[in-house]
Amino acid sequence: MTIWNLGSINADFVYTVPHIPAPGETLAATDRKVFLGGKGANMSVAGARAAAQVKHIGAIGHDGLWTKQRLLEYGVDTQHITTLDTETAHAIIAVDADSENMIILHPGANTKIPQAILQNALSEAQTGDWFITQNETNLQRTGTQLAKKMGLKVAYAAAPFDAERVQAVLEYLDFLILNAVEAEQLKQATGQDPADLGVKDVIVTLGAGGADWYSRNGKQHFEAIDVDPVDTTGAGDTFTGYVLAGLDRQLTMEQSIALALKAGALMVTRYGTADVIPDLSEVQAFNR
Ligand code: ATP
Repeated sequence: MTIWNLGSINADFVYTVPHIPAPGETLAATDRKVFLGGKGANMSVAGARAAAQVKHIGAIGHDGLWTKQRLLEYGVDTQHITTLDTETAHAIIAVDADSENMIILHPGANTKIPQAILQNALSEAQTGDWFITQNETNLQRTGTQLAKKMGLKVAYAAAPFDAERVQAVLEYLDFLILNAVEAEQLKQATGQDPADLGVKDVIVTLGAGGADWYSRNGKQHFEAIDVDPVDTTGAGDTFTGYVLAGLDRQLTMEQSIALALKAGALMVTRYGTADVIPDLSEVQAFNR
């Protein structure tokens, strides 16, 4: 089947600086690297790396044609990524010698995705396909609602967290994934535990603590795989892409989570995000 991912696509400009600039200060960077980023793009790459057919729905500007090309190289179907007369979403990231960082995020095309792009894409979807989205585009509510109406299985990664936006889509979800901080924020907002939200499957990822799965059978805990982390960025997106890819090829939730725990652990042993997401053969061969 297919995983339809309505998601963000970012260009991440990472500047190495001697220190984080103070207000009014001009500072020369000693290095600059440009990476593919955005939670949406990361999840698409993770799903494709995990051997699923992933079709990304999103928007970029003319300055971001390379991001679409990169997604294609990583195995993601990019037919439903449109190019608009606006800027590609991008992040300006300054990192100093102590790994302290400062980030400016410009949402650009991610928040201008035309509804027709979404409708056109989902008109090709089939019952049994998965739809996933996150909280970085303008269409997450419309997308989840439409996907549910069309009989797709609907997943939501509630990041970056916004209580109102999560609550607005809960009724359409079959699967919700949050990290520990987001789960606590949602509990504060709703007064309810993950198991009581009315969503069939909820996963709370706990970093080095592993993950909890809440379903009609109650809560099941999974330990993380013991590794020495060097960079935790992208672990959550990789975990999500792997779980969904597993479910998409009819693995059980336990089997899908087992693969995602390995993929997440491998990810934190590497510097970088989309470009270093491990593929299925690496994940299967990873034994601790
Ligand atoms: P990020 O925003 O950095 O991508 P997140 O906060 O969304 O991450 P986490 O809960 O930190 O997500 O991590 C997702 C999964 O990755 C965890 O459930 C775990 O399986 C794996 N993972 C993360 N950190 C570690 C670690 N230090 N050791 C082993 N596995 C880890």
